Amino acid sequence: NICKNYLADINEIHVCIPIIIGGNVGGVVQFVCGKRDVCNISEIEKKISRAQQYIREAQPVLEAKRLMKTLKESSVRDTLTGLYNRRFIEESYEGLCSRILRRGSTLGLLMCDIDYFKQTNDTYGHDVGDVVLRETANVVRQCVRESDVVIRFGGEEILVLLLDTKPEDPVLVAEKIRSKVEAMKVSITGDLIQKTISIGVSELPTDTQNFWEAIKFADVALYKAKELGRNRVVRFSPEMWQDNKY
Ligand code: GH3
Ligand code: MG
Ligand code: MG
Repeated sequence: NICKNYLADINEIHVCIPIIIGGNVGGVVQFVCGKRDVCNISEIEKKISRAQQYIREAQPVLEAKRLMKTLKESSVRDTLTGLYNRRFIEESYEGLCSRILRRGSTLGLLMCDIDYFKQTNDTYGHDVGDVVLRETANVVRQCVRESDVVIRFGGEEILVLLLDTKPEDPVLVAEKIRSKVEAMKVSITGDLIQKTISIGVSELPTDTQNFWEAIKFADVALYKAKELGRNRVVRFSPEMWQDNKY
C-alpha cells in the first residue's frame, strides 16, 4: 500500500507501475487482482513482468509525445502575455468555425484595443507598458470562460473568441471586459496607472460565415468605438461596412 495513486480498496492485492517521463512520474499503471484469497499471485506476477516490459518500451515514445505537445503549446503562445498568438488562430480557425456552424451555434468575436496606449509607453517607458499589457490580458482572460479563446492579435490588440454564445451575449461580455479594465489599477513605483479599452463586436454566422470577414467586421466596429470617443463597446452593423467602403 505504498502507492499514493491507488485509491480503491486497499484490501485488494494491487501493483502500481510508475511510468517515468523526464525524471517524473508521468502516469501510473495499476493492476488489481482482488482479495488475498481470490488473487492468483503467481499468475499476476507473470502478467506484470510482461506489462513492465511493455511500459519500459513505451516510455521514450510517451516522453517524445509529451515534449512535442509542450513545444507545440509554446509555439502558439505569446511570451509576454501568455495568451495565444496569431499563429494559433491561423492553424485552428477552420476546425473551430466548422464545429460552430455544424452545431448551429454562434461564435462571438471581440476585438479589443487599449486606448491611448502609446501615451503609457511615452510617459512611463516600454517596460511599464509591458506590465500594463500583461495585466490587461489577465483581466480579459478572467472575464471569459476557460473554453473561450483569447489571442494577442497585435501589439496591444486582443481578440476574444466566445464559443457557443447566445446572440447578444458577446456585447454583454465585452461590456464586462470594458468595465473591469476601467476599474483595473496597475501600481508601479510611486504611481497608479489606469487605462481604458475599446471593443468592437461581431458574430459568426449572424454577420458572416467567413471567419476573416467576421474579424474585419469586429475591427470596423472597434474603429467606430475609437471614433465615438473610446472606452466603449460597439456592435458591428452592416451600415458601418458601407460607410467604410466609400
Ligand atoms: P488608440 O486609442 O487609438 O488605440 O491609441 P494608441 O496609442 O493605443 O494606438 P496606437 O496603435 O497608435 O499605439 C499602440 C502602441 O502600442 C504603439 C506601440 O509602441 C505599442 N506597443 C505595441 N506592442 C507593444 C508591446 O509589446 N509592449 C509595449 N510596451 N508597447 C507596445
Ligand atoms: Mg490602442
Ligand atoms: Mg492598436
